[in-house]
Order: sequence, then structure tokens, then C-alpha cells
Amino acid sequence: MADNVTSGSLTLVGIGPGGLDYLTRRAERAICDADVVVGYRLYLELIIPLIEDKQYLEFPMGAEFERAQESVRRALDGERVALVTGGDPGIYGMAAPTYQALNDLDESQVAAVNLEVIPGVTAATASAAIVGTPLIQDFAVISLSDRFVPWEVIEKRLRNTLDADLAVVIYEPASRHRPSHMMKAWRIISEYREPDSPVAVVRDATRPDQTATLSTVAEMMNLPYDMKTTVIIGNSTSYIARGLLMTPREHPEITNK
Ligand code: SAH
Repeated sequence: MADNVTSGSLTLVGIGPGGLDYLTRRAERAICDADVVVGYRLYLELIIPLIEDKQYLEFPMGAEFERAQESVRRALDGERVALVTGGDPGIYGMAAPTYQALNDLDESQVAAVNLEVIPGVTAATASAAIVGTPLIQDFAVISLSDRFVPWEVIEKRLRNTLDADLAVVIYEPASRHRPSHMMKAWRIISEYREPDSPVAVVRDATRPDQTATLSTVAEMMNLPYDMKTTVIIGNSTSYIARGLLMTPREHPEITNK
């Protein structure tokens, strides 16, 4: 890698949940200004209208560190690189592998990378907007993927979150490699929420194939789950009305009215 100061840059771009209308202006500008756009194939497909006339580099799923390293290397070689990531880069995204790739550099090289991180609309808020007000009080986001966090830790966090009566947004509920995680999570959810407690399941939010289904804790395992799905478990004050999952802004026990 060259260690002289170059005009290259690396911009980590959160592209939002999928629909191009949900990309921020700054994200769009970074993609349009880039010499090369780097990303996982699915994310590049989502922004094809912006990149079809550009040089872009597809990476397979799972090669996050390689994607980050290649992007850093190109920025040091003087290219303006846009490294795209779904939703927000700091939420189960490319921010960590990118900072990790910078660890191997000296200070002048880190400065030459000119890293900028552009936040994006994350799946939690994109999905919540479709199904009502499930996140209007307090909530937590938990991924069921045990690629980076052991299942025992995931389970403990899920229990504590449900016990604290937070709404829970579940990312990565199931994949081909871990079909049973949602079933294991459901057994835990059933311990902490009433059977008729509302649940929303959103797939492909803001994309052409978007679906949103309301269910209950008792019924939710009749639905399919995959890697394009976000699950929202309400808190104890949540209810279904007019086909939406509503959580009131005011907790029923509030006294300072
Ligand atoms: N950085 C991303 C999350 C990456 S983890 C973000 O901020 O949104 C990938 C998980 O996000 C998926 O398994 C799914 O649970 C959720 N997800 C991402 N985009 C989604 C969409 N358009 N609709 C529903 N869920 C989505």
C-alpha cells in the first residue's frame, strides 16, 4: 500500500432498507461521485440505477473483512471508493470490519483513507413505519445470528430485554444455516409475553416485494422467516387496532397528566 498522501477516499454508505427513495441525498452523492462502488451483490442490485454506468466490485456474502480491506487498499491507491452496506453501516454492518482494516495502517495512511461514514435508515425504523407505532416507547434490537455472538449471549440478551418490557426488534431471524433459531427465540418470547401479545413480521421493507403481517405470540410460528425478514415483538402495552401494531406513547401507568 502506498504511504504517501493521496486524493483517495473511502465512504461507507448506508443505503437504507432497499427502496431508492430511502437513500439519503448524501449517500446518493457519495455513490455518484465514487470511482468504484464496492459491496455485497444484493446491495449492489438494489442501487443498480445509480451504478450501472460505473465500475463496481461485487463480493460474496460473508467476505466482510476482505471487502473492507480491498476498499481501504483502493482508497490508498487514490481511488474514491463507496463501500455500500444495507440499512445503517453501524448496525450489523460494514463499520466494524472497516475500522478493523484501518488497524493495520500507520497514522498517515489512516489519514489518507479519508474515511466518512454515512448513516442510513435501518430495518427497524423502516419496518416499524409500515406496521404502526411498535417502537414509540423503548426498544432493543437483537440479531439471532450467532456468527459473531454466541447463542448463549443472544439468549441472555433476549431474556433481559423481554423481562424489561422493551419492544424487541429481531434482525436475522433465520437463514439456511440456522433455521431453528427463530423457534428457540419463540420459546423464550412465550415465557415473557402473553399468547395474544402482538407481533409484526415485515419482509423486504420498502422493496417491490414488501410484505407485512400482524400476528400474535401464540400464532407467530405459523409464519415463514428468512434473512430478509424483520420481526417486531410489542411490549405489554401494545395492541392491534385497524390492522396496525399500536404501542401508546403514554404508558398506562403514567400519573403526571
Ligand atoms: N445494517 C442493516 C442490518 C444488517 S443485518 C440495517 O441497518 O438495516 C440484516 C438483517 O436486517 C436482515 O436479516 C433483516 O432482519 C434486516 N433487514 C434488512 N433490510 C430489510 C428489509 N428491507 N426488510 C426487512 N428486514 C430487513
